[in-house]
Amino acid sequence: MQSSLIGKIEKAKRYAKEPDRVTFTKLSVKFHGEHSDYDTGYREGKWYCSCRFFSSWGTCSHTMALQRILDGMLPDEAMVTQFEIAP
Ligand SMILES: [Zn+2]
Repeated sequence: MQSSLIGKIEKAKRYAKEPDRVTFTKLSVKFHGEHSDYDTGYREGKWYCSCRFFSSWGTCSHTMALQRILDGMLPDEAMVTQFEIAP
């Protein structure tokens, strides 16, 4: 294998242990909820989710779960909801 590629792989392994290097600016996922699958994500500074709760409350268990899963890799504004998330 080329030595330059080996160097890149080593750097990738190091980067992979430093998730704070990554900030999602947008994301889109299929969230497997308990009752159904939902289209959930973050774009243009706002969360969205196809579940019924989100349409009423502007937040839901799916978006809040993503905030926890991706903690440290989301822009500050993506960590804000209209409700405080208990630690
Ligand atoms: Zn939802």
